[in-house]
Amino acid sequence: MKNIINVALNLPLYGTYSYLIPEEIDDIKPGVRVEVPFGQKKLVGICVRVDKNSKHKKHTYKLKYLNSIIDKKPVVTSEILKLGKWASEYYQYPLGQVLFSCLPSKIKSGGDIKITDDREYIYIATGKALDSYFRNKHAQKKLYNKIESSEGTEVDVRKNKTILKSLLESGYISRELKERERKITKKIKLSKDQELAYRKIMKNTSSFAPTLIEGVTGSGKTELYISITKEIVDNNGQVLIIVPEINLTPQTILRFQDYLDFNISIYHSALTETARLKAWASCLNGEVDILIGTRSAIFLPFKNLKMIIIDEEHDSSLKQSEKFRYHSRDIALVRAKNNSIPILMGSATPSLESLYNCQIEKFSHILLKNRFHNTKLPSVTVVDTKVDTVRDGFSSTLIKGMKKELDDKKQVLLFVGRRGFSHTLLCNVCGWTSKCKKCDVHMTFHEYENKLWCHHCGLQTKVNFKNICECKSESEIIPIGMGTERIEKRAKELFPKSKVMRIDSDTINNISKLNNFINQSRDGKIDILVGTQMLVKGHDFPNLTLVGIIDIDSGLYSLDFRGTEKIAQMIIQVAGRSGRHSSEGRLIIQTRKPKHPIMTKLLENGYSDFSKDVLKERREAALPPQSYLSLFRVSTNNKGEGLIFLNKIKNIYRDTITILGPAPAPILKKNNRYYYQLLINSHNRKFLLQKSSEIREYILKHKKSNFRWSLDIDPIDLY
Ligand code: ADP
Ligand code: ZN
Repeated sequence: MKNIINVALNLPLYGTYSYLIPEEIDDIKPGVRVEVPFGQKKLVGICVRVDKNSKHKKHTYKLKYLNSIIDKKPVVTSEILKLGKWASEYYQYPLGQVLFSCLPSKIKSGGDIKITDDREYIYIATGKALDSYFRNKHAQKKLYNKIESSEGTEVDVRKNKTILKSLLESGYISRELKERERKITKKIKLSKDQELAYRKIMKNTSSFAPTLIEGVTGSGKTELYISITKEIVDNNGQVLIIVPEINLTPQTILRFQDYLDFNISIYHSALTETARLKAWASCLNGEVDILIGTRSAIFLPFKNLKMIIIDEEHDSSLKQSEKFRYHSRDIALVRAKNNSIPILMGSATPSLESLYNCQIEKFSHILLKNRFHNTKLPSVTVVDTKVDTVRDGFSSTLIKGMKKELDDKKQVLLFVGRRGFSHTLLCNVCGWTSKCKKCDVHMTFHEYENKLWCHHCGLQTKVNFKNICECKSESEIIPIGMGTERIEKRAKELFPKSKVMRIDSDTINNISKLNNFINQSRDGKIDILVGTQMLVKGHDFPNLTLVGIIDIDSGLYSLDFRGTEKIAQMIIQVAGRSGRHSSEGRLIIQTRKPKHPIMTKLLENGYSDFSKDVLKERREAALPPQSYLSLFRVSTNNKGEGLIFLNKIKNIYRDTITILGPAPAPILKKNNRYYYQLLINSHNRKFLLQKSSEIREYILKHKKSNFRWSLDIDPIDLY
């Protein structure tokens, strides 16, 4: 009988691989990295199971021995291993790739986990030093004397790191962590509503308890999170806080630091590798009290995780849209359940999934109906642009509204759905449009850099208006649609004395630019903010009193059944930036469809009522959250090929489960590949997963080599 381990490799292969453990190795735990032979290569893998004295005698003669064991202690803790196995099964994504996606790059490649320790220590002479030891070790002797005579007070050892190490190893000195001086921080006084919510949540902190906090924008969800976090950390727990965007981490961390003097770390994809490694390691060793991170932080290892908070739980960036297509909130729920800890999900515009879970009493529901500063929610003006026509994006109502606020030294925010200048260029004479060569979409015109840019495949071309189209009618080329650059330009023309700033991924492409912008805006240095989604999420601009939504119409008739939900969330979230602190805020929406239910129901009755109606519609249509979906997508470089393939699948499985499609993907051609999709729908989640797995196996077996395919369980973007 042999000892065998199962190893998960970072390869797009389902299943794990078995290797023999050499006899001299008797201690190997699941979760450690190992180096194994794989074909001609040596690969780093993660041990997921140890099978001592394996009964499978028959196969063992075929197995190879592993080369070496890299770690003494697991890098994938048993908790993360369990979570990863669940995620791999649920999302039907290879276990190895799931586990490796939880690790910092350095660890992935087999590197050492050496982390520089920059905590401050006090050094103490142990009194055991022998004179003979110091013979010929003058430097050590000198430092030792210094430490001995310091009698436990601080000694500057920064320049003597190696000498210090030798002394520590000799046992002649020891060290203790220096007591940190506690900063004086602000105290939170909760409002009545916050206090009630706080008590309800803190009643049960030692078992799995999911709670949805539906709190209007400005109701003070963050202060509530902070108070709860403080209590948990004071009792030696760690708290994980997930925010949807990198943009929100610096602001969130500042607000936490205002109130709490704890060890707070951040984790997101824009950190340097070293910083990620450090955050990962300090979670693992329990150094971090509070970790604030984006979706992938849900896979960080903790020593004593006692609470998970998901902020803006409705936000679609919590779902990874490629490769391993997981939803961070859903993984968080499983993790909280595994650990028997509470989980809070907060939003002013909760997802219908979470609202449904409240209806069926899987989640507790806490409502915060009032804004903390008791300001009213913004008053809404819907501008019918068929009557009050817009010029370059601005109706006269909007201009008048802006003028009033700017005269009062207030801030204005203009929300635009797209970056760039205009989403298309058109020649009025020959009808030429700026279509992308490789995709079924138009290329966006970026005036600032004078280029056309396809936001789908990334193709960029310089613009020369003289011969952009066949008929060379330079002066007849017109921009179609409103992008941030166009609105910025016009705002500057309309309000030459005001400081205008554009915020989109073209202008803010790193954290320091973002911080800079947040500071400028808070210090009142910006009068008009023009931006995309990026501006909307979670930000708190104290002086902002008017929000203008330039154009809502493109979103109103989306093909995606989640279209209405998403646009309703967007409107409420943008509106929520207005009038948060003192004065009453205003919202101006420009539309050609003032009678659309969004305009009437949502704006009159609020999100809570509106979402109840949408839930009813979903039930009638048997769509999520009242049922479950999975989405298969196939692409090849030949038009129609994917469709034929998916039709075959439909014919095989149609009698066993509801299949919608196949159909061309909403953008059929992308980067010279043609995309088709098939949706599977069932009321029974288990059954859906099982059928999806059968279809996945069929695809793996029968696809041609030029096919690419993907499976998305619980897809939220049908685009
Ligand atoms: P939300 O995240 O619910 O939209 P915020 O947490 O941003 O709302 O709170 C809105 C404003 O009210 C913020 O400026 C916040 O600092 C302030 N605020 C909320 N609760 C308190 C509190 N208990 N004490 C002091 N200020 C608070
Ligand atoms: Zn393209």
